[in-house]
Amino acid sequence: KPSEEAKVTAVAVATKPITATEVKVNVSIPEAAERAKATMADGVGLLRIEHMILGLNTHPQVYIKGGRSDEYVNELVKGIRTVADAFYPKPVWVRTLDAPTDEFRAMKGGEGEPYEHNPMLGMRGIRRDLRETEHFKLEMAAFKKLFDLGYDNIGIMLPLVQHPVELKRAKQMMLECGIDIEKVDVGIMVEIPASALIIDDFIKEGIDFVSFGTNDLTQYTLAVDRNNELVADLYNELHPAVLKLIEYVIERCNKAGVKTSICGQAGSRPEVARRLVGMGITSISANIDAVEAVREMVARTEHEIILDAARKRVV
Ligand code: PEP
Ligand code: MG
Repeated sequence: KPSEEAKVTAVAVATKPITATEVKVNVSIPEAAERAKATMADGVGLLRIEHMILGLNTHPQVYIKGGRSDEYVNELVKGIRTVADAFYPKPVWVRTLDAPTDEFRAMKGGEGEPYEHNPMLGMRGIRRDLRETEHFKLEMAAFKKLFDLGYDNIGIMLPLVQHPVELKRAKQMMLECGIDIEKVDVGIMVEIPASALIIDDFIKEGIDFVSFGTNDLTQYTLAVDRNNELVADLYNELHPAVLKLIEYVIERCNKAGVKTSICGQAGSRPEVARRLVGMGITSISANIDAVEAVREMVARTEHEIILDAARKRVV
């Protein structure tokens, strides 16, 4: 006799719309893995590593300087593995560290963090990873362990990339850390207008996917601090300039066979999902509580596009 849980799952599967555009889920902490899995998403479009680190409430340097690097790596492995297990064999894109200095300063052992006038334009994301290579190597050691354990569903996503040289250096370091980048999906976040405008150069350098970080892409395109309430009314993810950048990147990536996705908050808004499907995005990653509504909208939009084409005798 099937359990109540199995019956609920069976009904959900029966009613889950099938979409050609993948609908994925964002996961911020490993503890949310099971809840995320229950959405029946097509994978994880963003797993944030920094929350695992901030959750330890101890600055990574405390581990590094204290000779406790193995402990640190094992914590990362444990966190990522929880999510990779829950979704296996569906893809899980894990983003490397992206916490600004002010967040690090609040942690135990974080007193040495530099003070920056504008942390959002400063030492975060890939820039920090490429300068503090000791730390990047620990992240890569965690990935290597997971790949050696057979997790072939894990992809590596690099945040705040603004020049292909950063991608190149990061890939070199992955190789140095024993990661077979031919077998692993490596992608970049497109969250700085510069990287959107020169997306062809990133494609040439070699990427398997891009994901729009619209939280940052909006703030950097419009020069509106995403955390400043005084200008919150000017913060508009649907500003034509933001949409134009996204549309351009999708077009170039589709031509080159590079997967496209979104992991910023905008992807959790069904009306935004609708626009993105119309632009030909290949996946959308939404927050846990938004997956169902986004999936409904994606399905509906896809049907309308097909019907429209049929009526115009395009198909
Ligand atoms: C984004 O910028 O849209 C994003 C997903 O990253 P974060 O919010 O962590 O900067
Ligand atoms: Mg971002």
